[in-house]
Amino acid sequence: MTVDTSVDPAFSICVYCGSRAGADAAFADTAARVGQWIGQRRGQLVYGGGRSGLMGVVADATLAAGGRVVGIIPRTLVEREHAHRGCTELHVVETMHERKRIMAERADAFLALPGGIGTFEEFFETWTWRQLGYHNKPLGLLNQQGYYDAMLRFIDHCVSSGFMDDSQMRLMSADDDWQRLLQMLVESAGFPLPTQVHAI
Ligand code: AMP
Repeated sequence: MTVDTSVDPAFSICVYCGSRAGADAAFADTAARVGQWIGQRRGQLVYGGGRSGLMGVVADATLAAGGRVVGIIPRTLVEREHAHRGCTELHVVETMHERKRIMAERADAFLALPGGIGTFEEFFETWTWRQLGYHNKPLGLLNQQGYYDAMLRFIDHCVSSGFMDDSQMRLMSADDDWQRLLQMLVESAGFPLPTQVHAI
């Protein structure tokens, strides 16, 4: 497919997800659908810039469907996370802080898919930044197949124990339906619900 990726994207979404693929092929399958959804709507994926795990899957699917992909990777992780040279823009930066700052700046909304401690860190930091007023961009957590059930139960426990409150809970949305969550994030970020422009 020939796609002009120099045009402004319809929206830009930062996806945090595992640098591993997980034990169930359904995780990669959903990551591919997420990337395809973004690309088919002329969207832009902002992510950590690696080819490994779900990160590579979502990037490849976005590119294959005609979307733009902005990868941002620290120099020290170029080998370890297999920097994705096929990104529309690949930025090799000096520090993890720079990576996270640029990812946050380039995105209109954030979505966390299943992942490990790197994904948790990115999700929680983006949530705390919203609480502190550093940004006001929507944030979603895909609770695919109950992957985050235990974490969400713990967070409820934090609320009932008085260390968190409902106003903080309203700053992020957890959903088990990836499509509903993506639509909500894009619309909450102020973009009309994008229509599919490319068939694969
Ligand atoms: P993981 O979820 O552990 O597989 O990691 C997913 C992504 O998060 C990878 O690109 C990691 O480089 C990244 N990551 C790891 N630690 C951090 C951190 N402290 N801040 C931001 N991203 C991180």
